[in-house]
This record gives sequence, C-alpha cells and structure tokens, in this order.
Amino acid sequence: MVSSEYIERLLEEDRYTTSGELAPILKEAEALRGLSLEQVALLLKTEDPALLQKIQDCAKGIKQKVFGNRIVLFAPLYLSNYCINACLYCGFKSSNEELPRRALTTEEAVQEAHALVAMGFKRVLLVAGEDKKYGLDYLIKIVRAIYKETGMRIIHVNAAPMEIAELKKLKAAGVGVYQVFQETYHQPTYKTMHPAGPKKNYNYRLAAMDRAVEAGFADMGIGTLLGLYDYRFDLLSTIAHSQSLLKKYGTHAHTISIPRLRPASGTDGDKETLSKYSVSDAEMKKIVAIYRLSVPTAGIVVTTREPEALRRELLHAGASQLSAASRTNPGGYNKADALTEDTQDKTLEQFTTCDQRSVTEVMVAIIKEGGLPSLCTTCYRTGRVGEHFTRLTSSGEMHKFCQANALLSLKEYTIDNPPNGKAELFNEAIKKTFDSIEDKEIKDKVIQKLNALNKGEKDLYL
Ligand code: SAM
Ligand code: SF4
Repeated sequence: MVSSEYIERLLEEDRYTTSGELAPILKEAEALRGLSLEQVALLLKTEDPALLQKIQDCAKGIKQKVFGNRIVLFAPLYLSNYCINACLYCGFKSSNEELPRRALTTEEAVQEAHALVAMGFKRVLLVAGEDKKYGLDYLIKIVRAIYKETGMRIIHVNAAPMEIAELKKLKAAGVGVYQVFQETYHQPTYKTMHPAGPKKNYNYRLAAMDRAVEAGFADMGIGTLLGLYDYRFDLLSTIAHSQSLLKKYGTHAHTISIPRLRPASGTDGDKETLSKYSVSDAEMKKIVAIYRLSVPTAGIVVTTREPEALRRELLHAGASQLSAASRTNPGGYNKADALTEDTQDKTLEQFTTCDQRSVTEVMVAIIKEGGLPSLCTTCYRTGRVGEHFTRLTSSGEMHKFCQANALLSLKEYTIDNPPNGKAELFNEAIKKTFDSIEDKEIKDKVIQKLNALNKGEKDLYL
C-alpha cells in the first residue's frame, strides 16, 4: 500500500479542480478501468456544484453499465454484543456498563435467520463483537445451522480479524464475503480510537484481507467508519487498499462500505473527540460517487445508519447495495413489532439506526427511483467471484446477468411475499426489465424460469 505521507501530499495543495481538469477524468472513469490516486484527489478537490453534479451523473452511468439498475438488498444479523475492545465510538465496547450483554444461542440465531427469510431476505451479514467465548467455533456452528435449517442462500461475515487457519474454517463453512473495516487508515487517530484490546493493533487489522485471500476467500469487504478522521484521507486510503488487493491478487475489494458514525450508548464521554470530523449528507453523495468512479466493480454498501431521503439520493450517485429493516441488537428480528416501543431492546443496540422502513417499503422506494430491488445470490453460488467477478464487471458483461437475476429474484419475492397493495408496481418493474433485455438467449431463459417460478419452483437464476 502507498504511504500516508504520499496521501497527505496529494491533499496538500489547496485549490479547486477546474472543469478542464475534470473532463478527462470522467472520460477515463467511463472506460471502467478505475482511476489513479492523483485523479481521485482532483475529484475530492471539486467544489463547484455543477461539476459535482457531473461527477454524480457519471457515477450513476457507471453503476448502470456495470450492474444495470439492480440494487441488492441484505440484512445484518447481530449475534453477540460481548466485546473485549474499547473502540471509543461503539456501544459494544467493553467499558460500556450501560449495555446489557447478550449472545444468541445457535437456536436463537437460526430463529433470527428464519425471521429474515420470512421477510424475503436471501443474504445475511452475520455481525459480532470480539470475544474469545463467542469466537470462531461459535460463529461456524451458527453458519452451518443457518444453511442447514433455513432458506438463507448466502452468509457473509463482519467480525474481528482472524488467523489464516481460522479463516480457512470460516471459508469451508460456506461464508461468501469476509468484511473487516479498517475504521480509519490515519494511524494517530486509529490509536486514539482504539485504546485497548486486540483491535489496538493497526497492522494486524490492515493485513486481515491478505490473510483472507491466503485462506481461500475470493471476495473481501473493506471500508472506513466515516467521521473518525478527514474523510478525504480515508477515502484515498481505502481506494489505495483496494488497488493493492488488485495488484496482488487480481481482484479489487468486492464491497466498499460507507458506515457513518451514529450515536451509540456509552459514548457520551467521547462526544467531543467523535464530533471533530463529522461528514455531511452532501459529502456522503460525493464519497459514494468517487468510490464508484475509482473502483467501478465494487458493491457500494449503504446501511440503515443513513436516513431514508439520503439513501434515495445515494441510489443516483452509484450506490449498489442497501440493507433494510435492520436491527443492531442480538435477537431484534423476533421482536420486530417492538422496534420503536421496546426500550429494553434498544439498549442492546450497537448504534441507533435511522431508516426503519420495512423491506417492501424500501423496495417500493427503489422502484420509484427507477431501480430494481434484487435478492440475487447467484455470483457466490456459481463461482462468479474474485478475479472472475472483477473481469466480468469491468468488461461490462455482468449487468446482463444482474438484470435477469434481479428480475427472477424479485418475481420469487412477489410470489412468496405478495406486496400488499403494491403488486401492480412490482409487476410493472418486472415487465419493464424483461422488455429491456436485448440478448435473445438470455430472454428465452428468463421466460422459461419465470414460467417455472409461477409453477412453484424456487431459487432460479442464470
Ligand atoms: N467487532 C467487529 C469489528 O469491530 O470489526 C465487527 C463488528 S462491528 C459491530 C461492525 C462495524 O460497525 C465496525 O467495523 C464499525 O465500522 C461500525 N460501527 C461501530 N460503532 C459504530 C457507530 N457508533 N456508528 C456507526 N457504525 C459503527
Ligand atoms: Fe467491539 Fe467491533 Fe464495537 Fe469495536 S466496533 S467495540 S471491536 S463490536
């Protein structure tokens, strides 16, 4: 990875990017080859609203070229809020005595997954604090049970960095994407934010993705927690990290997440430290668009940490994945009706979510914005991962599969979870996508599979 000094130098020159400088960068981005860090720095220095709009429009076009208009939906499943770390910003930190601790049993985790499957989800992200008792063996038992006992089709994991031998076991259990966020690449800030526990070790965390590749993972998820340090430094560093993965292993980061700091219980004492670098909504749009231009093949993930209106706008800036109806407290889905009233459960949360709409409501909003909600999990199950995925996406070939599979997954959703009063809207979106398929061979296969879904078959894809 390039040095922090180099990234700081790129940000040093205090001036605005001109329209003449921007035009060739946008042209190069449209070729889906990504951008150099020097070009990214010029994007970051763009302030003119008209030029920012051009960046956003370019990002929207790139997202369309790579993935079509599909927006992937997923849900997090919080397993345990026990944690031995002391991250200043997180409600799960060990020193937070206000937080009642809870770790789901395997049976409870399976019940949570059942609840998500009943809501229509096919992909889940397991999330946990770091604790020896609830470490790898705990996680693997749950992964296996969820696959065996529920209809969940792919499981991703966001948990503490692990050793290669541990990651091999996680991979063997069938985990798709392995996520570890660096939080901040600015080492002095990292040190302040992580005063105790294993997470203190910056370099061990930074090498988490290299160990994952060594262990056989093809899809890596990275990101920073926006609001800890200057977002421009962290954005450049995240892109540099992804570029170094590409150089070493032939694949960019599979996903880049953009979590923005939210209020969390037990963090009041650190309010001042945590509010220095807050990121505005306008900056969030710029961040998403720049990631899309620089790493066109990555899934850009927006969670329910963000408000509904901004999530809608980010769809037009290049975002490609949304979580929906999320609970950040272990056991939260089996108390779905108690989301706002149950203050007891709220105290178990990692942070407070912002967008609390149901899955169908989020889908309706996506369709109204011209997108197509997708519950597809095909790539992980057909080997379109890692280098293969990077090749298909950067050549613009992938969107054909994405559109067709999004359509099939949405059709299956409407059969299993008839969207109350919204059937017409969903059917129109499916028809419009079907009509837009140009490839005759793909269209014929989609017709066959739509007929089979109507006859009761499940889980059909190309
Ligand atoms: N414990 C593991 C770790 O820290 O890597 C994984 C799970 S942690 C619950 C997942 C992510 O939540 C963290 O990497 C961090 O970026 C994010 N997070 C923590 N506190 C947050 C807060 N107050 N607001 C928003 N996101 C937060
Ligand atoms: Fe623990 Fe992760 Fe929260 Fe840090 S961010 S306190 S490691 S759960």
